[in-house]
Amino acid sequence: MNPTQRLSRLVATARGDLVLPLRPRAAADVVALPLRLADALDLGASRWVCVVIDADGGQWTVPVVEGSGEVRRAIAGDGVAAALVTMLAGSGEPASPAFVMRRWRHPLPDNASKQRKLLSEAGTHERSIAVDQTNDSIVVGERAVVKWAVRLPADHSVEQPAARRLGMLADHGFSGIPATLGMLQWTGSPPHPALLASVTEFLPGAVDGWTWAVDDVRAFAAGDVAADNALLPARQLGVLVAGMHVAFASSGRAVADEKTTQRWRDRANHALDDALRLVDGPEGERLARRAPRIRAAFETFLETSGTPLIDVHGDLHVGQVLRHGSPSRYALIDFDGNPVTAIEEGARRQPVALDVAGMLASLDHVGRVVIKRTDGVDVDAVLAWIGQAQATFFAAYRSALLEAGAGALLDDRVIRPLQLEQECREFIYAVRHLPHWRYVPDAALSALLPDEE
Ligand code: ADP
Ligand code: MG
Repeated sequence: MNPTQRLSRLVATARGDLVLPLRPRAAADVVALPLRLADALDLGASRWVCVVIDADGGQWTVPVVEGSGEVRRAIAGDGVAAALVTMLAGSGEPASPAFVMRRWRHPLPDNASKQRKLLSEAGTHERSIAVDQTNDSIVVGERAVVKWAVRLPADHSVEQPAARRLGMLADHGFSGIPATLGMLQWTGSPPHPALLASVTEFLPGAVDGWTWAVDDVRAFAAGDVAADNALLPARQLGVLVAGMHVAFASSGRAVADEKTTQRWRDRANHALDDALRLVDGPEGERLARRAPRIRAAFETFLETSGTPLIDVHGDLHVGQVLRHGSPSRYALIDFDGNPVTAIEEGARRQPVALDVAGMLASLDHVGRVVIKRTDGVDVDAVLAWIGQAQATFFAAYRSALLEAGAGALLDDRVIRPLQLEQECREFIYAVRHLPHWRYVPDAALSALLPDEE
């Protein structure tokens, strides 16, 4: 029996937790047994990257270690992520034909040599990134982050956006993301390759906006930070997001036709229907009262044919913005798209307003979190910050687009209905994954729909 046949046998008798990362939330996922090994990349020393299919046809990327007649999902310390980084640092190609290693070199020589240095210095030390994650990320040698895609999209007829979008930004030399070092793809399920893992520069000391923005607003509300300083990050984010859109726009654009705007209207109504069905209690009652006004706003999508469409981030919120370095800089991460939208929708080109609405919503949400979780907080100060931060972000975004000669990308009319749709999605996300989050969309909607009876 060759090593791959042995691996196949072990996978066929493995438990469902083979495919699941070690997180409490994952335990809720149901994996239909038996599992089947679809393909495997041998990284040496009993370490593998596997594509595993469950009995329902669900496909999973699984870093695997094999030992004492068993297989288990590799965790930090097992060396699978480090072996991938080592392969990326060299020039070798994966030994199995369906696995493809894409390497990125920045167009500027200095940056390209920094990338090479990161990879060659990474070594073998691994640790996991311990935050609530939908994927599984491992830091290798404090230099690189390997992000395993846990579940592969069911439908390979749709191109997964993350690989394309990271590639576009990397090709464009956009500096507002951690440097893209490489991607491991699998071509065993045509027509589109599946992204199994992405490898990016590790940003030391980076924290995401659910930490830094919440801390900032808390400090501002306590009087420890002046108003100007409390709004500076919102301005920097506006410039950053505009830069990302300009980079995406240079890789191609389209315009929305009537069919597209109808699809948006239907998609938004669908999100509202789901939220109405799922949310009970006082929040559900308030949502039901607000529903006619929300639906009316969704009708305005139909007036927006002609809106420019480009690739966008697709799931933009402060949690996707890392703050790092001194003085502070910001980097956008996680181009996997919105976990609550269908992949076909996420893969399409979208109006830039989708990201703008996402960021406006999350600036509001930061304020709601501070109000809820800070004893004795000055609520008025936080509410004032929300409005000012949104206005500051938006003004900086718009003027950066104009400065780049790309002002025509933004169609203001699409922002408000997208903000309302986003709050419906927040409700759905709350019910499915994070029950206590409901207060956030509930409060955000009261700001979007003032003057309620
Ligand atoms: P998910 O898809 O699970 O949300 P993300 O790609 O957004 O995963 O990353 C989750 C967390 O990992 C981030 O909030 C951040 O704390 C950390 N992280 C991700 N990429 C990097 C990086 N390049 N450098 C430092 N930390 C990172
Ligand atoms: Mg994320």
